[in-house]
Amino acid sequence: AKAQGRNVLRFFSPELTIRARERLSLEADLRRALQQGELALHYQPQVDLRSGRIVGVEALLRWRHPQRGWIAPGAFIPLAEECGLIIELGDWVLRAACEQIRHWSDAGVAPRQTAVNISAVQISSGGLLDTVRRTLAATGIAPDRLELEITESFVMFERERSFKLLADLRALGVQLSIDDFGTGYSSLAYLQQLEVHKLKIDISFVRNMTRNRGNASIVKAVIAMGHSLGLEVIAEGVEEIEQAAHLLALQCDVMQGYLVSKPLPVDDITRLLESFEPI
Ligand code: C2E
Ligand code: CA
Ligand code: CA
Ligand code: CA
Repeated sequence: AKAQGRNVLRFFSPELTIRARERLSLEADLRRALQQGELALHYQPQVDLRSGRIVGVEALLRWRHPQRGWIAPGAFIPLAEECGLIIELGDWVLRAACEQIRHWSDAGVAPRQTAVNISAVQISSGGLLDTVRRTLAATGIAPDRLELEITESFVMFERERSFKLLADLRALGVQLSIDDFGTGYSSLAYLQQLEVHKLKIDISFVRNMTRNRGNASIVKAVIAMGHSLGLEVIAEGVEEIEQAAHLLALQCDVMQGYLVSKPLPVDDITRLLESFEPI
């Protein structure tokens, strides 16, 4: 067994070393990316299902790596969360989004809300409220133009803490939404206590809603539940016109997804916003 163990070790360790080294280099690259302006926000429009107007945009982080090209957030945000860099990264995202809101407001084309994703690690770190307050002050935007997206799983995980924080953020005047809704276990009573403004139905339910009755039932139930609490309901990942029609029939408020547009670089989304009347 011992000999076998050694063989196993010899077999696996070079691979592990490579992976560890790759992670380290990625982490170092990410630190550099923050300093050298390799990060950018792209913006995906959110459209009111009834009027067809753009009512919001979601900021999504992109990294233009000098050797590897564009890297999607799924490939580096978990790493940034593990090594703690997500705090600085999150601060950067918030600042960049608020500066963009400032520009759009000055030009008279700001959407009703610009949403920013907040990592559970940012919330646990305890500095979020202060960062948001300082960023609002520094950019001088109207607080209700900013929306913070917080995942359902986090909110369920740290109840006491999230209650207090969300109440404090709400008092600052920012909008709050629960992201990936339906993937956790929130109860109606719990949601009512949270006092957020919006629910975002997770992409996984929207994806198959026109083919799978179970998913359609979940979507229908979430919309009804959200509305009974006075919340706006956003469906994400809408790719097909059939989904949009079905969502409209279920009285969903807003849709986001490739059917309308992929996330766009700032120049492109700005041109799109300029082509609509301000709200
Ligand atoms: P998310 O917040 O659930 O964002 C939605 C994801 O779905 C985005 O992927 C978006 O590009 C993608 N998407 C939008 N419409 C469609 C569609 O019609 N079909 C499909 N298949 N996908 C669609 P993205 O940009 O790769 O972001 C992935 C995740 O990374 C986000 O999921 C979010 O959890 C995280 N993320 C992105 N930017 C940030 C950020 O600035 N901070 C933090 N903490 N997390 C971020
Ligand atoms: Ca999101
Ligand atoms: Ca989501
Ligand atoms: Ca997600």
